Amino acid sequence: MKKSQLSFGLLLLLSVVVSASSFAQNRKTENLVVITLDGLRWQEVFQGLDKVIVKQEMFTKNAKGLRESFAADATESSRQKIFPFLWSTVAKEGQIYGNRLKGSLVNVKNKYQFSYPGYNELFTGFPDVRINSNDNINNPNENVFEFIQKQPGYENEVAVFATWETMPYILNRDRSGLNINADRDSFPALSPELKLLDDLQKLVTRPVEVRLDSLTYMGAREYMKVKHPKVMYISFGETDEFAHEKEYDQYIKTAHSADSMIADLWTTLQAMEQYRDKTTFVITCDHGRGGLGRDTWAEHGDEIPESGQIWMAFLGPDTKALGEVKNSPQLYQGQMATTLARFLGLEFKTNHPTMTPFPGVSVTAQ
Ligand SMILES: [Zn+2]
Repeated sequence: MKKSQLSFGLLLLLSVVVSASSFAQNRKTENLVVITLDGLRWQEVFQGLDKVIVKQEMFTKNAKGLRESFAADATESSRQKIFPFLWSTVAKEGQIYGNRLKGSLVNVKNKYQFSYPGYNELFTGFPDVRINSNDNINNPNENVFEFIQKQPGYENEVAVFATWETMPYILNRDRSGLNINADRDSFPALSPELKLLDDLQKLVTRPVEVRLDSLTYMGAREYMKVKHPKVMYISFGETDEFAHEKEYDQYIKTAHSADSMIADLWTTLQAMEQYRDKTTFVITCDHGRGGLGRDTWAEHGDEIPESGQIWMAFLGPDTKALGEVKNSPQLYQGQMATTLARFLGLEFKTNHPTMTPFPGVSVTAQ
């Protein structure tokens, strides 16, 4: 306990050192888009299809079909087939962290290794032992979106679209006043497209008892076309849900679909004056799962050690084109919140401790 408090102190000290020297004058990011894929393993992101799990009938219903779409002789071709945007545009122009086979380690710091503690760490900037369930309980900790919304020029400029009903509690909608649209929330009737999407979401099936990720995405995209928020957080959930259902086919297909939606949003925003070359994308997850080839791939939690292993990616005008990062220092989920603020030139300070921003990913002038 004492040791961890000491290292926290050091991190806070480092934070001050870094912030004093690195507030770049030539920062280009004016808009921020954060996207999370719940419980998507780094193993698929970097190694493509899991060859062992594909063979197991208890997990994969149509192995032949899945292999035809996503398998390849080389690991790199398989990951490219599942995540074409990540391994083309982001790998060329951005940064991808978390390939443990190449010495890039990213972990959660919370001991629980499931969603609410993970999102808390991600967006409030520290692992909080009190956050120990996935229940719909309002989060006592201030999150970085709430902080950003209070800064001059950001009032009503932050929006959140989420698949999971718990996200409004994680981001404490009651206190923060954040504009959050989650699960069964109606889409605002701001355009004919949003009205149509709202009709659709009331009629379609819910295969895993949450809003379809594609509806979450389309709601967010159409909202951006009408309202042009500076900050958007899109929270996908199907990857985790299908994994818990032990449906590896669907887990892979929905991960692929999420990559396509991210590509679509990038293209859509690059065609809009407000966003073109002024928008940073951050893509990550809340936790990992059991390891490659293991039955525990379907689950996660403190009893499954690999489920603390995560990944993350950055793309935007202030992110150096490093591609797949190798041999980087150990990074933690709790460093994301201060990093997100840093992209907008802000220092996320609040009434609880926050971990230091990631070195090297925030602004070109560093
Ligand atoms: Zn889960």
